[in-house]
Amino acid sequence: MSRRQGITILGASGSIGQSTLDVVRRHPDRYRVVALTAHRQIERLVADCLEFSPLLAVLGDAGSAAEANRLLREQGSKTEVLHGEAALVAAATLPEADMVMAAIVGAAGLAPTLAAAESGRRILLANKEVLVMAGELFMRAVRAHGAVLLPVDSEHNAIFQALPADFSRGLTAAGVQRILLTASGGPFRNASLADLQSVTPAQACAHPNWSMGRKISVDSATMMNKGLEVIEACWLFDAPPELIQVVVHPQSVVHSAVQYSDGSVLAQLGNPDMRTPIAYAMAWPERIAAGVEALDLFRIGRLDFQAPDFERFRCLQLAYDAIAAGGTAPAILNAANEVAVAAFLAERLPFLGIARLNEAVLGAMPALPESSLGEVVDADAAARRLAEQLVAEAAFA
Ligand code: NAD
Ligand code: MG
Repeated sequence: MSRRQGITILGASGSIGQSTLDVVRRHPDRYRVVALTAHRQIERLVADCLEFSPLLAVLGDAGSAAEANRLLREQGSKTEVLHGEAALVAAATLPEADMVMAAIVGAAGLAPTLAAAESGRRILLANKEVLVMAGELFMRAVRAHGAVLLPVDSEHNAIFQALPADFSRGLTAAGVQRILLTASGGPFRNASLADLQSVTPAQACAHPNWSMGRKISVDSATMMNKGLEVIEACWLFDAPPELIQVVVHPQSVVHSAVQYSDGSVLAQLGNPDMRTPIAYAMAWPERIAAGVEALDLFRIGRLDFQAPDFERFRCLQLAYDAIAAGGTAPAILNAANEVAVAAFLAERLPFLGIARLNEAVLGAMPALPESSLGEVVDADAAARRLAEQLVAEAAFA
């Protein structure tokens, strides 16, 4: 390799961000960190800046940035510290950033990730909310500016690996019959509706197979995560929703599969460790060591599959409804869900209230065409306001 690839990590202090730094740490000859961002985790970001010496570090507010700046100067660091959305965009579009890991959670990641697409970077996309909120706009920007989009979400990374390299000429032309999107089913796969009434945040965040941030852990427990992933897959692979079959697979070893017209099914398997899809996206089309333990099929012994239950996991159905409604409907659902999950984590909404709140907001707001970022941002804000109001009124308590 002629020179090291520069990487910006948006959301460096999070679960995906830290796994990305772990892969970078194993390949100092290939990668150089050029920018790191975190919302409020000052100490984590400062420690990572001291280890990786990026050009730029970004925090969420002026106070956090001033504190990080003071700590870094004390240690003789030359990393510049900025804050706010414009600074996130600057991190995503630094001339030295060959690739951008988009690992901010939620809607906050939209503007910088879109900016990375508009400046034609290689985007390693973990932040699925970008595609859920603004799939049409984002994919248009990727195509118009020649950005390279590599999915990091484990299922989408698996599908990408199982598809032919030229899948963008059309899935039917490539002989694809179905995309089999696997789901662990989360911690409540076998729980009854009655059991689900009394679920606590701690129970919802204890995922059986994956270690993840709190928001996505709750989304896995409601299966909203799988719903968001159906929408994500529609945009990434230009697939109609009916082509995507969710398959519950409790072991989380088959990360997803593609079924072809000749009867073949190509799947990607591996231990549930996000460093595999991260390393794949970083090195594509090559492969590099990720520090992941080799898969031991003898130890796993068996792989189980079952159909999803759309009644207990209402959020999954809501995602299909939103994609069918089109336009801003997925952004509305995503915004309602972010408010619902935060309210659940703050013990202001019961677990089953998440789906009820999402359904109420999705049903109450018209889906408008997704013609500009402004419309998406407005729909997102209006959905949040309505959701907050319903939580405050204890409408689903
Ligand atoms: P996390 O909560 O561990 O980390 C989130 C990161 O975003 C942190 O660095 C945080 O500082 C930053 N952040 C949060 N709010 C912000 C704001 N308002 N402005 C700027 N930065 C902000 O989350 P995670 O589990 O690492 O997930 C990150 C993204 O990757 C999510 O979109 C998630 O759906 C997706 N994803 C995660 C996993 C996983 O295994 N963790 C798997 C697939 C996809
Ligand atoms: Mg996933």
